[in-house]
Amino acid sequence: MIFDCDGVLIDSEPLASRVLAEAIHRVSGVTINPHEVLVAFTGASAEDTQHIMRNDYRISDPAAVLADYQTHLFPEFHRQLREMPGIAQVLESLDIRKCVASNSKLERLVNSLGILPIWRHFAPHVYSADMVARGKPAPDLPLLCLERCGVVPERALFVDDSPHGIEAARAAGVRAVGFIDLNDPRPGREDILLAAGASNIAYGASELHDIIVDIHSRERIQTPVHA
Ligand SMILES: [Mg+2]
Repeated sequence: MIFDCDGVLIDSEPLASRVLAEAIHRVSGVTINPHEVLVAFTGASAEDTQHIMRNDYRISDPAAVLADYQTHLFPEFHRQLREMPGIAQVLESLDIRKCVASNSKLERLVNSLGILPIWRHFAPHVYSADMVARGKPAPDLPLLCLERCGVVPERALFVDDSPHGIEAARAAGVRAVGFIDLNDPRPGREDILLAAGASNIAYGASELHDIIVDIHSRERIQTPVHA
């Protein structure tokens, strides 16, 4: 099992959006509510984030906003970050090898997933875009996971809430499940994830558990188990 981190394992996006909204207000005086920030910026690279700030919100110094955001983000993670609802029970119940493939920098993974008890399900198999030439949607990260875990693509399953992750998995020959947080306010997520190549869509941790168990049991029947 290869898991994306933000938005699948950890409920970081609402927190990060609030910190960014506060940074925008502190640095530029512009007021955008955290909900709008979440819809507008989630999944955007640092470069895209600056572009959106400058062009859509007339913020003159987006680099200064991002610097302020970086200063406040990790302390806020340490104060408030939680796992995605129900995901700890899913991880606990699945007797399947697990790793993480995230476009986040390793420093952010250590200061987010790394401060939560579920880290133990993955370490040392936590892989960041820092470790490969190209992050998702390129196949580099899932391929690194497969190589380090010694698993062939057909025996792996990838879970991600973003189309970039689904595309990366498919490019690596790995089946992908699209994950949608029950509280995600962004419209059209199911269509976006299916269009990227997801074979299944899971709304929340409980559905994700059932889909994984279903796929895993079929695989065991179809695929001979090697010693
Ligand atoms: Mg994500």
